[in-house]
Amino acid sequence: MVDISRFPRRRYTHGATPIEFLPNLTEAVGGPKIWIKRDDQLGLTPGGNKTRKLEFLVADALAKGCDTLITCGAPQSNHCRITLSAAAKEGLKCRFVIEERVPGSYDERNSGNNFLFQLMGVEAITVVPGGSDIAAAMQKIADALAAEDRLGYVIPGGGSNALGGLGYFAGAQELQQQLFEQSLHIDRVVVGSGSSGTHGGMVAAFLANRINITLTGIGVSRDPEDQAPLVLCEAQAVCDLLELGITVPEDMVQCVGGFWQPKYSVPNAAMVEAVQLLARTEGILLDPVYTGKIMAGMLGMIRSGEISKDENVLFLHTGGAPTLFAYEDVLLGRVPADS
Ligand SMILES: *Cc1c(COP(=O)(O)O)cnc(C)c1O
Repeated sequence: MVDISRFPRRRYTHGATPIEFLPNLTEAVGGPKIWIKRDDQLGLTPGGNKTRKLEFLVADALAKGCDTLITCGAPQSNHCRITLSAAAKEGLKCRFVIEERVPGSYDERNSGNNFLFQLMGVEAITVVPGGSDIAAAMQKIADALAAEDRLGYVIPGGGSNALGGLGYFAGAQELQQQLFEQSLHIDRVVVGSGSSGTHGGMVAAFLANRINITLTGIGVSRDPEDQAPLVLCEAQAVCDLLELGITVPEDMVQCVGGFWQPKYSVPNAAMVEAVQLLARTEGILLDPVYTGKIMAGMLGMIRSGEISKDENVLFLHTGGAPTLFAYEDVLLGRVPADS
């Protein structure tokens, strides 16, 4: 395995996240055999895929003597919640730029992650309209802190830069080790593809460690023509940071579209079905913005035959359950979802 120990890392999770077989879901869909890796059980409050990225990003912030984490996201951002949780644990302050991608969607009294922002004591939230220059808005906060003799550390959306991508480089190596120890043969890993740190970090690790498993990234906000270049760029940035001397081939990046519509974070009927199915067959909570749509994508590919019945498939559960509490009506069918 590629040694990445020269990069400082904070540890927020005890050991590896479990891999579980899902017998009831496997039976409900009539095969393939489905496993899940429980990255919804990563550390921090409650953890999810951003926890892995923040292990490297926060270690870097601490090494640089920063006192405040500055990051950005949508009104129900898991990334913001987990960053705030890491800040609380490390004795740092935390500020957000919230992008209202759906106009009027931010309300400080909202439930879900938004409630947790307040509970964990976010220092300040700046709300900007969709399409704003978010990097500039974060830099402005860093400048204002500097004027008060403080030192901010800016973390890009989703923690998806080269350093954040190391989180899923390490995550993929953890998976490789587990499969080896458990003598478990997996043909395909299904992962969400958003800001691309998760998918891109894994592409880099699969290449560098010769992990011979198909990696399928299901888009949560973009179709393949827009998503694949982002993932390729992230995977290359991770390889470059590690000085691996690898050029990531385009065909290593497999993106699937069509399941995130009508819009990022806006419910659709297949998501509602997937969230209900996992809750009722396996007692596992998915979320409406990411893993519900990613699971809907996997189920769709099983139904269409793109994922064949004789494969062993592993679904990466990237977390997000707090958002369920901001979508109760649509998840219980009290209001219709887009079809
Ligand atoms: C952020 C997020 C994703 C997408 O991961 P990226 O690294 O941004 O592509 C998937 N699932 C959940 C629950 C998330 O919060």
